[in-house]
Amino acid sequence: MKFNSALKTITSYEAGKPIELVVREYGIDKDQIVKLASNENPFGCSPKVKDAVREIIDNMSLYPDDSMVKLKNALGQKYGIGSDEMVIGAGSDQVIEFAIHAKAHNGSKVLMNSVTFAMYEIYAKQVGAVIVRTASREHDMDEFYTLYCEHKPSIIFLCTPNNPTGDAIDADAMLSFIEKVDNDTLVIVDGAYMEYARFKDPSKAVEPRELIQKFENVLFLGTFSKAYGLGGMRVGYGIARASIIKALYKVRPPFNITTLSLEAASVALEDEPFVAGCIVDNFKEMKRYEAFAKLKGIQLIDSYTNFVTLSLPEEKNSSQIAQALLKKGMIIRDLSSYGLNAIRVTIGTEVQNSRFFELSEPLL
Ligand SMILES: *Cc1c(COP(=O)(O)O)cnc(C)c1O
Repeated sequence: MKFNSALKTITSYEAGKPIELVVREYGIDKDQIVKLASNENPFGCSPKVKDAVREIIDNMSLYPDDSMVKLKNALGQKYGIGSDEMVIGAGSDQVIEFAIHAKAHNGSKVLMNSVTFAMYEIYAKQVGAVIVRTASREHDMDEFYTLYCEHKPSIIFLCTPNNPTGDAIDADAMLSFIEKVDNDTLVIVDGAYMEYARFKDPSKAVEPRELIQKFENVLFLGTFSKAYGLGGMRVGYGIARASIIKALYKVRPPFNITTLSLEAASVALEDEPFVAGCIVDNFKEMKRYEAFAKLKGIQLIDSYTNFVTLSLPEEKNSSQIAQALLKKGMIIRDLSSYGLNAIRVTIGTEVQNSRFFELSEPLL
């Protein structure tokens, strides 16, 4: 059967291997497996969230509140924005999809960093858009500007902190760049890890409210999947001026967030101390990775997230190392599909991280 020809150049997104698959494929005991592959919060979510979800479990039979009042109020309060300035998606992934479908079409250009989140390209290609990438591994705002002038893209993605490398853009440099972009170009600032950057170095953090006050063409993305520990609930959001949000609503399917997910995300925002504690622990544990990398003489990219990326020397092959670790029950991310000889490791609990050091010591 012939499919939409735009699909020809798309490679399906390769998600981190679920634990159950490793149990089946390698016959390893479930509790012997450590998954540090998808940047999930190793402490899960706030216990208050679990209680709240249990409390409304009987509502599963009811369609969710499609106006999402509770979550929108909670987000509105957190960020100081109005409910007409946000859209909720099944993960911020879905908001990326909305944005591309609303703005790009066949032949549109979409500008992004050389190495960045894989879904931008996948959604852009679905509509036949042309991908333009920078050359440098880290976001270089001067290079972005040069490519912007040359290609006049309809969408620009800035992923800060960036996945899968962990580095972040200097906020002032980013704001000066956006100032030079015309208002018909949609600039998407993906802040999936912004909670971590804000803690580690405020000069790398941008506030969504400031962004949308300054710019009429910016869409900020946030998610509950990382710091808030709700990856399994699939909730993310986009924040922008009402004129952009209105367009995104036209491509949004109704009831795109489940009743239980809406409750979980709303209550997660009520327990900020839980998230703050996880972030403190994250950076404490990151120091151990830094020490480990130094000891092994491996380059660790300075990270503003809940993962570290280890650039391996030529003689160590990232795919082979990831595979060898997998056989021992340690799931991490090989970055060879991004053109990097590197591995990405989500920072886990103290015990999980120790296990990573122990298992990878003889390999690295
Ligand atoms: C995880 C991630 C997302 C989206 O995650 P969702 O689970 O769909 O909310 C978006 N962008 C980046 C850079 C990510 O790492």
